[in-house]
Amino acid sequence: MVTDLVYHDIFVEHVISPGHPESPERLRSAMSSIAAAGLLDDQKVNLLAPKKAPLSEVYLLHGKAYLEGLRAKSERGGGIYTMDTSVNSYTYDAALLAAGGGIEAVDRVMQGDSENAFVLCRPPGHHAEYEKAFGFCFINNVAVAAKHLLEKHDVERVMIVDYDAHHGNGTQRSFYSSKDVLYVGLHQDGRTLFPGSGFPNEIGEGEGEGYTVNLAMYPGAGDTSYDQAFSQVLEPIVESYNPDFILVSVGYDGHFRDPLTSLGLTTSGFAMMNSRLKQMAISYADGRVVCFLEGGYNLEVMGMCSLNLLQELAGVSVTSFDDENKESDIASQYTEKLIEKIITDSPLL
Ligand SMILES: [Zn+2]
Repeated sequence: MVTDLVYHDIFVEHVISPGHPESPERLRSAMSSIAAAGLLDDQKVNLLAPKKAPLSEVYLLHGKAYLEGLRAKSERGGGIYTMDTSVNSYTYDAALLAAGGGIEAVDRVMQGDSENAFVLCRPPGHHAEYEKAFGFCFINNVAVAAKHLLEKHDVERVMIVDYDAHHGNGTQRSFYSSKDVLYVGLHQDGRTLFPGSGFPNEIGEGEGEGYTVNLAMYPGAGDTSYDQAFSQVLEPIVESYNPDFILVSVGYDGHFRDPLTSLGLTTSGFAMMNSRLKQMAISYADGRVVCFLEGGYNLEVMGMCSLNLLQELAGVSVTSFDDENKESDIASQYTEKLIEKIITDSPLL
């Protein structure tokens, strides 16, 4: 079976503003690394241009008036939209195609047409809230896909893992009172990074209590801390929750060379997480996993990490890069205490 690489040319037409870090160059770098490695010619990889998401499905996650406003702004040629978000004439279409790509990717996995998928999209989605474009995001792609799985397929439990350096506030909020979606975020502590949320005491509410897990990492945390988080939190919790499907918000801004954040991951740290996520999907969810691109602002890192993710999903050998970084003792010690607290507080662990 194939791995779908979901990509549309309009993803690189959406521009927030000239020189903005969330730039089309991010996807160009990813695609050129993937092409240079020969993966676009590999029979295991299926390049898939998506269709737009049906509005009825997007309205389950976002207000109609909000989306109409975005459409009108794009149709008028764009401009400043919210404090940190501008749009151009392609933004509305790109956002609907990104969300549609996620829906098509999970449909194909459920139907057995593909094994797994990487939705290599812009704009990203995990900060977008019900009626708010936020943090370079407009439609919450991963949340739309999770809702689609629950409503249109015989799926009862979806696990979302978000390893972008920033907390996935929009995704968390979409399912905060639901036990049908387990959200696990690994990100830099919100006291030191946008959007300022995602603390360990945010664990869900009502029926959803315990189904939100936030691993808020100390600045400088890297491969060692993330390895511990997988061994002590993610791998035990996937066994306990036993999801039908795993969705992953991938962001390469946790790399130590990223210009916007202060985490300490390397390409081999990301490769370690990808491999363990795929194994978690094989062990508990019949291999069903779809990954969505969120952030990542060092262009070279975007290329290396996107290539590595696609290699892992397609089951071809993963290229190793030479970018070593050792996390500080203070970060490792902080992570140990953080994991202890999460294990104590979580009913699933
Ligand atoms: Zn991010």
